Amino acid sequence: MIIVLRPDCTDAQRQHLFEKIEELGFRYDISQGEKRTLVGLIGEEDKLRDAPLRAIPGVEDVMSVLKPFKLASREFQHDDSCFDLGHGVRVGAGHLMMIGGPCAIEGEEVLFEIGRAVKAAGANVLRGGAFKPRTSPYSYQGMGEEGLKILRRAGDELKMPVVTEVMDPRRVELVNRYTDIFQIGARNMQNFNLLNEVGQTNRPVLLKRGMSATVQDLLMSAEYILSNGNKQVILCERGVKSFDPSTRNLLDLAAIPNVHGLSHLPIIVDPSHATGRPDLIPAMAIAAVAAGADGVHIEVHNCPEKAMSDGPQALLPEQYTGVMEELRKVAEVLGRTIPVAGAEEN
Ligand code: PEP
Ligand code: MN
Repeated sequence: MIIVLRPDCTDAQRQHLFEKIEELGFRYDISQGEKRTLVGLIGEEDKLRDAPLRAIPGVEDVMSVLKPFKLASREFQHDDSCFDLGHGVRVGAGHLMMIGGPCAIEGEEVLFEIGRAVKAAGANVLRGGAFKPRTSPYSYQGMGEEGLKILRRAGDELKMPVVTEVMDPRRVELVNRYTDIFQIGARNMQNFNLLNEVGQTNRPVLLKRGMSATVQDLLMSAEYILSNGNKQVILCERGVKSFDPSTRNLLDLAAIPNVHGLSHLPIIVDPSHATGRPDLIPAMAIAAVAAGADGVHIEVHNCPEKAMSDGPQALLPEQYTGVMEELRKVAEVLGRTIPVAGAEEN
């Protein structure tokens, strides 16, 4: 349910309304648009059926949100969301987040070398996994806290925000100490305890689409984070399962305008996990930005054959530099900005 406030609603009337909402057993969230202020009610909508909300002073209208996701919906917030990620980097509303880095953090020297290369190419967020969700328990599982420390040092030195995956609700506090952005991986998109936990922090969350999740499922998972109070959710299309083994997954590029129609949240694209193929990544990254994506996420390694995880899909730094050059051209034509990390520092 969304309550539209009258333009002349006084502070006292607002306060009274908020108290009423709480009395009814609901929480609320305010969306301050240029023209209108909306108040979203968080709770089980059925309980409001007989509540005379329209009679409360200062209320102009009461609307039921038909979509099952509420706070994530365009109905609740008309304007695109835009989040600060640190070091002058923003995502959403025309700002592109360019994530580059290795699948896994493997050591200080390798991460710094890759980090320097992707930064020089124009990446504005550095990635690296310290806790890896591997299909096999015998595969490399990541460096854990040691890896987080290395990632933090690299981000500080290179003046780039960093993103890393958190897989376990019990580790949210630990990862929160080191990262600028949480990544929730495809396999955990519906780990609701994890979503609730990151929802209680105030760090941006990169929420990847599950491999068999619908666009609505993705938005419902975002809703878990938003309804816990964390507004900063960035969605990520990374391909869904398909019958065709020629690519790792099937990239759903239509998800970009689809999500943009339904939601104010930014959505980026990960052509690395979507295709699993370095020969396809550049074209898909360009297509993603052309289709309106708010950024791209690409895995890069200076020696893919030695990579501990996802080596076969990693771009070499020089290949990444080439893609970024193309992406800058596309962004410029479309009037989008690629923030330069750390530009204002020195
Ligand atoms: C990753 O980003 O390294 C990763 C494991 O991605 P996904 O969760 O999309 O498979
Ligand atoms: Mn990977």
